Amino acid sequence: MRICRFDGGRIGVVKDDGVHDVTGCLDRLPALRYPYPLDDQLIAHLDELQPLFEAMAAAVPGLDMAAVRLENPVANASKVIGTPSNYKKHVEEAGRDPMIGQGRPRQTLKEAGFFLKANTSLCGAGDALVVHFADRRTDHELELAAVIGRKAKNVTEAEALDHVAGYTIGLDMTLRGAEDRSLRKSIDTYSVVGPWLVTRDEIDDPDDLDMTLRVNGETRQSSNTRHMIYNVAQQIAIASTFYTLLPGDIIMTGTPEGVGPVKAGDRMCAEIEKIGAMDIAVRD
Ligand code: MN
Repeated sequence: MRICRFDGGRIGVVKDDGVHDVTGCLDRLPALRYPYPLDDQLIAHLDELQPLFEAMAAAVPGLDMAAVRLENPVANASKVIGTPSNYKKHVEEAGRDPMIGQGRPRQTLKEAGFFLKANTSLCGAGDALVVHFADRRTDHELELAAVIGRKAKNVTEAEALDHVAGYTIGLDMTLRGAEDRSLRKSIDTYSVVGPWLVTRDEIDDPDDLDMTLRVNGETRQSSNTRHMIYNVAQQIAIASTFYTLLPGDIIMTGTPEGVGPVKAGDRMCAEIEKIGAMDIAVRD
């Protein structure tokens, strides 16, 4: 199932004939009182909600996709986790380009660990990337994003994918410079996620998906998730030894080679097999 958020927090099921508004099903979510849980309630209850979404989607007409404004599919991510240097050819290009590598030795996940992006940096396919600090370089990083569905702590690699709700496309946008990654990658709109969440049952193998990013029609990144150094299950298992992963948490699984700058006026088109494609405007 493809689940989107649109037009101010409405929930839709995406089918070939458009977006079916199933927002009414959210009445089934528990009424909460302060202090609120940190996890995303829709994703935490997705197993119960999915049959309701299915029934309601069949009963209401589809809205034209071009007429809705798509939002980040995860309303309440407690954290956005980034996996660094996870494609060999990207590690190589970072070694060649001092703006990417910043002269630091490139270490992969087991040496360098994860980084966090602020959840306030999240935006969706219908939003624009707003370039900050236009005198500095802002680069695109196309990544498969895994959305956690069940609380995970110290899970094994074999159990890891059972803790995934689904997958979406992530753009781990990055301001180049000497500051800590958690600052440079946490700018508002620098975590584009969308166009929707594709539930886990539709993607048997997240480690074999073609991915492409074009800027103004020119292909910049073209790879397949099979080239990841640490696969999705390994990333979740390792992350869960440090963090408690909560429903709605997003793991950006690393970018392949071809990382490069964007500027105001550009248009990015990001596509991942079995998920879909999204067009993102870049503005200042
Ligand atoms: Mn990245």
